[in-house]
Amino acid sequence: EEISRKYGVPLFDIKQDSYSIKTFKGMDMEISEKVLSLDFLINIPVLKGHCQTLITGALKNMKGCISDREKRRFHARGLHKPIAYVNKIIKQDFILVDGICGDLDYEEGGNPVQMNRIFCGTDPVLIDSYIADNIGYRPYDVEYIKIAEDIGVGSADIDNAEIIVLSRDESIAKPSPSRKVQELSRYVNAKDACSACYANLIRALARLDEEGFIYKFKNNPVLIGQGYKDFEGDGIGVGQCASGICRSMGGCPPSTSAILDFLKKQ
Ligand code: SF4
Repeated sequence: EEISRKYGVPLFDIKQDSYSIKTFKGMDMEISEKVLSLDFLINIPVLKGHCQTLITGALKNMKGCISDREKRRFHARGLHKPIAYVNKIIKQDFILVDGICGDLDYEEGGNPVQMNRIFCGTDPVLIDSYIADNIGYRPYDVEYIKIAEDIGVGSADIDNAEIIVLSRDESIAKPSPSRKVQELSRYVNAKDACSACYANLIRALARLDEEGFIYKFKNNPVLIGQGYKDFEGDGIGVGQCASGICRSMGGCPPSTSAILDFLKKQ
């Protein structure tokens, strides 16, 4: 409220709004009239894992633009289809993703992973595909991304997307207060690893844990960080700094999905 007053930008509670029924492919939904009246919509989702839909990002954040009754119906309808369909009714014009410290696997928090990233775009399907990649999933692992692409909301083709990096965060990762992240970090030997690099590795290890492969690194932890720049020898190294290690992969930082592919081959 203080920031709203300071900059003269009024806050509006969608829960107090009136709603209009809009329909796509026979599915009707109660949408906020305020949202429907906007001529430019900026969406600011937080990058997070999600226990039901795997990720939450730009497409799912539009659930904030419907009535509470409609939110309950979304769950009864299985989430994926209505999340994709609501994005045919409400068009986002600009998306700014807060990837500073999103949760590993749960939408309500508990296992924050410091990533220190903010990214933006105009295609919510592409943005969510990039989020999926950052969390260690393929875009089509997330059912609503595929449905949204099929109905023409946007493109999931991150392999051919133009991604421009404006500034690289090289701050050193700090120990996480999360027990789950601490457990995953038992499989890592980090020396001055950048936050983004370390977060991508932790998210990749979380996927490996789900798939039952993490035991492979119990006595052979993954080496990562600037402290390995001049190190040559045995081990498994992740990131350009660890490229002198016998089995290693490059990237600065390497993406979560690239780390996952590499670790699965070890
Ligand atoms: S590879 Fe790049 S991002 Fe990773 S620790 Fe080294 S400098 Fe940091």
